[in-house]
Amino acid sequence: MSFEDLKLNPAIIKAILDAGYTTPTPIQKQAIPELLSGHDIMASAQTGTGKTAAFMLPALHLLASPSKTQGRGPRVLVLTPTRELALQVSEAAKKYGKYLPRTKVISILGGMPYPLQNKLLSQPVDILVATPGRLIDHIQRGRIDFKRLEMLVLDEADRMLDLGFKPQLEFIKSTLRGEWQTLMFAASFGPKSEPIAKLFMKDEAVMIRASY
Ligand code: AMP
Repeated sequence: MSFEDLKLNPAIIKAILDAGYTTPTPIQKQAIPELLSGHDIMASAQTGTGKTAAFMLPALHLLASPSKTQGRGPRVLVLTPTRELALQVSEAAKKYGKYLPRTKVISILGGMPYPLQNKLLSQPVDILVATPGRLIDHIQRGRIDFKRLEMLVLDEADRMLDLGFKPQLEFIKSTLRGEWQTLMFAASFGPKSEPIAKLFMKDEAVMIRASY
C-alpha cells in the first residue's frame, strides 16, 4: 500500500514525498482509512511508530475543504501531555500541511507568555495544539470558541492521565459542543484510561493496535 492508495489530498501526498516517506507505517495504514471515513479511533501505538502522521494527515485532509461553520476557532484540537510533544506535533502539522492553503497552526503551552498567546488566539486558527492546563486558562477567559471543532486528538492519553490531567480533560470535554471526531492515542489502554475513554469516545470507536 502506498500513500496514494490512501486517497489523501494531493497537496498532502506532495509534502509526504518531500519528507522522504515512501510507505505508510502500520499505524498509518490502519488509522488513516478509518479516519477518512469519519470514524472515532482508539489506537495503541508507541512514539516512533509514525503515530503523529497517522492523525495529522487525515486532519489536514479535512482542512483542505472549507469549514461549514462560520467562526475563527480551531477545527482540529490536539491535546498533549508535554510542551515538547506539543511542539513536535505543531512542527509535523506545518511540515505535512505546507502545500495546503488553509493551515494555520498554533501551540498554546504552559510556561509561555500570555500576551503572545492572546494575540494568536485573536486570529483564525485551524489546528490548535495545547497542553491541558494552559488551554483551560484561555477557555475560562472566553478566548477560544470550539463551534468549528471537527476533530479532537488525545495524544499520549495514558501519559496525560499519569500526569494527573484527568480533571482538566473532563473540564475541556464539558466545554465542547456539537459533533466532532475523537482520536485517542496511548502506548497502551488499561483500566486507568477507561473513564476517559468512556467520556470521550463514541460506542462504535474502532480499536487499532500497531507496532513498528
Ligand atoms: P512518531 O511516531 O509520530 O513520533 O514518528 C516517528 C518518526 O517517523 C518521525 O520522525 C516521522 O518523521 C517518521 N515517519 C512518520 N511516518 C513515516 C513514514 N511513513 N515513513 C518514514 N518515516 C516516517
